[in-house]
Amino acid sequence: MSAGDLAFEDRMATVEFRVAPEAHITVDGDSCRGCTTQECVTACPANLFVPTADGGILFNYEQCFECGTCYLVCNRAGAISWHYPEGGCGVVYRWS
Ligand code: SF4
Ligand code: SF4
Repeated sequence: MSAGDLAFEDRMATVEFRVAPEAHITVDGDSCRGCTTQECVTACPANLFVPTADGGILFNYEQCFECGTCYLVCNRAGAISWHYPEGGCGVVYRWS
């Protein structure tokens, strides 16, 4: 089986998350309101950005891959604050 054949749930099962007590990414809901493109929703490989019915965004940092894509694709200054989790926390990639 190639990596492309893996289901999303199977991909997520190949990583472990050591959740830090403080979020390493925060999303400013006020900045997001009225964002019509919502690049973060489609770009995040972990599906952590969820649009709400009122035009906002729900975000949960706990299963973040730390790839930085959301920070790069968001075109609103200040909407996303991003830094790596504190030492020993965050994503742990496994080989099997
Ligand atoms: S995080 Fe950026 S791209 Fe995503 S909804 Fe907010 S402003 Fe738009
Ligand atoms: S850093 Fe990557 S995995 Fe984490 S929230 Fe942003 S796009 Fe998603």
